[in-house]
Amino acid sequence: MKVCKICGKIIDADSRAKKYCSPECRARAKYLKDRAWLAEHPEKSAQYGRKYYQTHREDCLKAKHEAYRKACMERFNGESEST
Ligand SMILES: [Zn+2]
Repeated sequence: MKVCKICGKIIDADSRAKKYCSPECRARAKYLKDRAWLAEHPEKSAQYGRKYYQTHREDCLKAKHEAYRKACMERFNGESEST
């Protein structure tokens, strides 16, 4: 009898799945494995962070730009009100 390694559910004897009962459990297992691996390799974790920033750079810059523009507008409005 096979049992899912994640949730402990019994896997159908004629199911092709070997270790996990569902795609969700397989994804969960992969996630846990990746996380454990990253915990053991903190320097790789930093690299992944950089990679994330590179792929989402546009969004990061846009968000920063928006915040900057807003701050400028607020300052400008504040100044025009005081004069
Ligand atoms: Zn499961």
